[in-house]
Amino acid sequence: MQDDLTFEFDTLAVRAGQVRGIEGEHAEPIYPTSSFAFASAAEAAARFSGAQPGNIYSRFTNPTVRTFQDRLAALEGGQACVATSSGMAAILSTCMALLQQGDHIVCSQAVFGSTVSLFERYMTRFGITVDFVEQVELASWAAAIKPATRLLFAETPSNPLTEVADIRALADLAHAHGAVLAVDNCFCTPALQRPLELGADLVIHSATKYLDGQGRCVGGAVVGDAERVGKDVFGFLRTAGPTMSPFNAWVFLKGLETLRLRLRAHCENAQRLAEWLEAQPQIARVYYPGLASHPQHELARRQQSGFGGIVSFDVKGGQEAAWRVVDATRMISITANLGDAKTTITHPATTTHARITPQQRADAGIGDGLLRVSVGLEAVDDIIADLAHGLG
Ligand SMILES: *Cc1c(COP(=O)(O)O)cnc(C)c1O
Repeated sequence: MQDDLTFEFDTLAVRAGQVRGIEGEHAEPIYPTSSFAFASAAEAAARFSGAQPGNIYSRFTNPTVRTFQDRLAALEGGQACVATSSGMAAILSTCMALLQQGDHIVCSQAVFGSTVSLFERYMTRFGITVDFVEQVELASWAAAIKPATRLLFAETPSNPLTEVADIRALADLAHAHGAVLAVDNCFCTPALQRPLELGADLVIHSATKYLDGQGRCVGGAVVGDAERVGKDVFGFLRTAGPTMSPFNAWVFLKGLETLRLRLRAHCENAQRLAEWLEAQPQIARVYYPGLASHPQHELARRQQSGFGGIVSFDVKGGQEAAWRVVDATRMISITANLGDAKTTITHPATTTHARITPQQRADAGIGDGLLRVSVGLEAVDDIIADLAHGLG
């Protein structure tokens, strides 16, 4: 496709990054090859030195993966994208590429459980310290910043409580202190939110979720500028190899083509479900940015073009009552994945957030009665009826 920048989002989602080969194939081909052949010794040398662009070895160059990277970069409005083997590999690669011993991370305490573990259990081993802060309190972020702070890390809306961080304000704060802001854009995807336009430096994706959209493959990506992502994160990936496979890249590419249509439908179903849940006497609280009762409803309206497909809620009666709702479902899948066409339900305190300490869970507001539903594309009345079984 020529001159990608002149096209709108929906066109880029379908076409960006594709370079048609000599066979004239219409759909994007999968290149299952570990290495690439050169015409001569001189060409091999030129490719390895970087003097000549082109494919070398699929740990770091593969045409299917590149097409996915270019398409996602176009959708996020970034100069560069590096695809990784998982969302966690994207976060790890970002840290390894941009941080060193003595550096400090300020991270929202409302992030994905494995992100907390990665920073707290593993980064600290290498002399990188981390402080966790209240995601929605800008003052809490500001107070945690030290001279050594290099990275601010937010996930908005957060998992599972859908807390919305002010990306513009966090970016300004990071930049005032010589740090960068990374935003995990998993819940919104670029179809609903474009953090780079709001001043963020890096966007993190678990492609496993909405980018795939049908729960098939594990993958991730980092999007940002040509220097940090195109050189630094790419350099780490090239060396260390947390690489996305060509097949997975192809699945995600096809997912991107329908991303906006799917997200629109997820948002509609989630809004209906959240409104229904809020009216049920057995539910203590519903967390969904599309509800007027959500504390950051106005911010979400400004910052996002939709409220997303994740709805969490506190069932009165703690773990026992919450598990009863889970176990009474007949259609909804009991699985921790999200962003799938199929509706899924999970009890965060005993699954996705079980490995962090009870104190960290309490600080993050993840109670024993909390359930997270990733609202799928089924008929919303069937989703509501299935959740009603265990609430009676
Ligand atoms: C799932 C998830 C991740 C990790 O992604 P994987 O692909 O499972 O490694 C990171 N952040 C958020 C918000 C997630 O939901």
